[in-house]
This record gives sequence, structure tokens and C-alpha cells, in this order.
Amino acid sequence: MQLTLWTYEGPPHVGAMRVAASMAGVHYVLHAPQGDTYADLLFTMIERADHRPPVSYTTFQARDLGGDTAGLVIEAVRDAAARFAPDALLVGESCTAELIQDQAGALAKSLGLAIPVVPLELPAYSKKENWGAAETFYQLVRATLLPNVPAPGTPRPPRDPARRPVANVLGPTALGFRARDDVRELRALMAEAGVDVGVVAPLGATVADLRRLPEADLNVCYAPETALSACEWLRRTFGQPVVRTVPIGVGATGDFLRELAAAAGLDAPNVRHDASRLPWYSRSADSTYLTGKRVFVFGDATHACAAARVAVEELGLDLVGLGTYSRELAREVRATGTKYDVEAFVSDDYLDVEARVAAAAPELVLGTQMERHTAKRLGVPCAVISAPLHVQDVPARHSPQVGWEGANVIFDAWVHPLMMGLEEHLLGMFRDDFEFHDGAAPSHLGARAPVAALGVPAAAQVAPAAAVAAPAPGAPRWQADAEAELRKIPFFVRPKARRNTERFAAERGVADISVEVLYEAKAHFSSTPHSGTPQAGAHAR
Ligand code: SF4
Repeated sequence: MQLTLWTYEGPPHVGAMRVAASMAGVHYVLHAPQGDTYADLLFTMIERADHRPPVSYTTFQARDLGGDTAGLVIEAVRDAAARFAPDALLVGESCTAELIQDQAGALAKSLGLAIPVVPLELPAYSKKENWGAAETFYQLVRATLLPNVPAPGTPRPPRDPARRPVANVLGPTALGFRARDDVRELRALMAEAGVDVGVVAPLGATVADLRRLPEADLNVCYAPETALSACEWLRRTFGQPVVRTVPIGVGATGDFLRELAAAAGLDAPNVRHDASRLPWYSRSADSTYLTGKRVFVFGDATHACAAARVAVEELGLDLVGLGTYSRELAREVRATGTKYDVEAFVSDDYLDVEARVAAAAPELVLGTQMERHTAKRLGVPCAVISAPLHVQDVPARHSPQVGWEGANVIFDAWVHPLMMGLEEHLLGMFRDDFEFHDGAAPSHLGARAPVAALGVPAAAQVAPAAAVAAPAPGAPRWQADAEAELRKIPFFVRPKARRNTERFAAERGVADISVEVLYEAKAHFSSTPHSGTPQAGAHAR
């Protein structure tokens, strides 16, 4: 087994917790060892939920293993039913409890409680968090609706044309990326399209809401990772069409509105391309200046595919890497990669992803919280586009990803890291200037104010030496002064200048890259058409 610091997905019982924590009146009894209560922190600390998730743990300890652990399950189920009076109970096991084979779900069923009890069989050693969330939601929907399932082949009665179509929104969960804000945006988008929202689930739904799911005319699958299996079961069982396009980006929002109208039996919508500022911003001077920058995309399948489309088609970025940790939806991601001439990959090893990012030498990374760390280490700007997330990805303000406003948020979130990088480049260029160095007084205090008068310590008046990056195995080593010189090159061409210089050195058997080698490489590539980085040469001093 590989030990790791970070994971993109937790075990499947964390997915089940996400469904329970999203809903009202659902309680989850988890047969789990002491210590698994750490998962509470995902909700209260990372997502800043104002209450802990509705989960009761059996919290068995090592000394319990020789005794009656099944008795602990029965006790915990009885206690939870009496204390929380839920409308439905989920019962499952964490990885360790799975090994002791107490069959917690079957034990709970045998108690004959008066509420629906849903036993969860979540194989922790072969499946992960998103699968666990999808399976839990599907089992809960199925258990709630089974008494109302029509006979196979029963046609769905046509909608009364006097009433507006109704669509459920399925898939938003706690710990989903901006799910809370996306729901608000979806409501506005669908209202404008003439479609009313029926049930939103699991986020904010009750068991009574789940019973109403078949009343809607169709289902919007907002998060295929967590809702596709439930949507497909509702389509097969109740004849409800499924809208699969997730409206992230201007193009996808237009496609979503067209697909929604077709599924709802409405006329083709008049899609307003001026509804978002993103298209205008994309044509403005600021962003065309950034056109063609190399971008690396990694995340869950939905957000990775959407980000690739927005990057290529709406911002004119150059896609140099595309990957996902979503094994269940790998086919969709691979198809998106093929569309944009990139070989997409599937990996849940963040070190593998880091190596691929480094090899692709992008100028912007769009990823998860883990790629934020990776990009920071590599000195590349980054925007987070997908779960797993951290506390800074849960802003207090409205910050959706879907719809017209979502497209505005995306433009800001992606382009500003690049713009900030430019500012840093300017700061770097002028750091040693007599007027702008670290010890210079602010202009309103007088340009000639002595540094000492400002209390600036002598050490702070010297620009810190640039850190020397560890070389890749077998790659030429950068000397400290060459690395410092390289850092004077604007960040957006620096990776290319680094690669070209290393190639130049490797081809000549040079083991150490000095300032002289850097200049020789610069001269070489400046005089070699189509193979160098003239921009890099123009900025190097
Ligand atoms: S039982 Fe599973 S989730 Fe709990 S600590 Fe062990 S590996 Fe982690």
C-alpha cells in the first residue's frame, strides 16, 4: 500500500457522509473505529458548516475487537433513532469495520424500525468518495420511491400544456465545489428559460422532497459524479429525461439552455450571448495579451472537461495537459482531451500529477487544492476549479461556477493569477532600481528620505537570494547566479526559457548551468528560427 499525504477522494463512507450532511432529517450510523470522527472536520472546518454532520459513530476501540462489536452497532442504531428521530436512517461501515464483517446494515434492518433504513454496501478497498456519494444517493432515492414505482412499460402522462415545465436539480452536495452558489444560479437560469425548479437534492432536501421527485417533468444532472446513477434510474423507472450538460462557461450555458428547452418541450431559447461579461472581457486588451498561454487542467471529470472547454474556446488559452481523478467518468475526460488534441490521463496520485505539470511547463494551472500546492512549489500561477477544496475555496460571498454569473467568476478567478504574476514580474524588474528598491521611502514621504529614518533593518535592504530549484534526475544543475538571472525573465516565458537552456546544456554535455551558459542558450535560440524563445532573450539581462 502506498502511503500518501493527500488524497483527491476519501473512502466511500465519506461520500455517504456528504449526502447525509446535505440533507435534512437523514441520519447516518457509521460502524467505525475511534478516530474516524476526523471526517466531521471536513464539514465544520473546511466547508465552515454551522453544525456537525448528522453522523453517529460506533467508535469501537482495539479492546472491543475481542467482544461484541455487533452489539455496538445495534446500540448505536437504537440510540440514533431515539435521539434524532430521523425520517430515514443510513447505516454503513468504514474501511476498518468492513474487515470485521459485522454486516451493520443487515443488523439495523433486523431491528424493525418504523422509518426507512438504508443499508449501504460501500466497498472501501475498491471504490472511493464520489462513488460512495452516488451510491448512497441512488439507494436513498430508490428506497424512498420503491412503493410508488409504476409497472414496467407504463407511459409517462404528457405534461398539461397550461402549466410550466418542472425540473429537479440533482447532484449538489456538501463539499461540492461552489454547489451552494451554483444552485442559486441554476434557479435563476432555469426561471429565465421558463422552467420551474422542483426538488433540489441532496443539498437542502428532505425525505418528503425525495418522494416528490417523480412529479417533475425532467431531471437536471448538475453533478454526474454524485447523481448520474440516480438520474438514470429515474429515467428508466419514471420516464424522466435527463439534461446532462453542466452549464459551466458561456458555451456550455447556451448548450444547457437548448438541451433544457428540448427536454421540457419548449421552443428553442433565445440565448443571450451578452448575458455574461466573459465574452467581452475575452476580447479586451488585458486578456488578449494573455492569449495562447499554456494551461494545465486537472480535477473531477465535470470541472476538468468544463475548464478545458472554457480555456480553449472562450479564453484562447493553449491546453497542454488534461487529467482527472474520476475513474468512473474517465471516458468523458478522454473524449474531451481528444477534442482538444491532448492525451488526457487518469490518476489519483498527486505526485504523478505534479510530475506531469512540471513536464508540461504550463503558465497557468487549473486544479484542485492539491495542484494549488504543486503550482506554488513550481512557481506557476494557479486557480482552483474543483473539489477537493480547502477553506479558501468556500467564500462567504456568492461565487458560482455555473451560468452567466459563473462565467464572470471564472474569468476573474483564472485571469487574475496571471495578471498578478505580471505585476510580480514588474516588481522583480524594478526591485533593484534606485527609486523602487525595498528600502526606498514611499514617494509621499519624499524620495530622498534616508532609509535608516524609516527603521528598515539593513538585512531587509538586500534582495533575498533566489532559491535554487532541485534539478530533475540527470538534468543539468542550475548555479545560484544563473537561477537568479533566470528569475528576471517574465514568469510566463520562464518555464520555456528554462527548458530551452537545459536542452541546450544537455545537448552539449554541460553539467552545470552558469550565467554564461544561459546567455549562450539565449543567443543560440534567438538566432535559430522557430526553436527558441525570443521573448525570453528580450528580457534577459
Ligand atoms: S478506517 Fe479508513 S477512513 Fe478510517 S482511518 Fe482507517 S483508512 Fe482512514
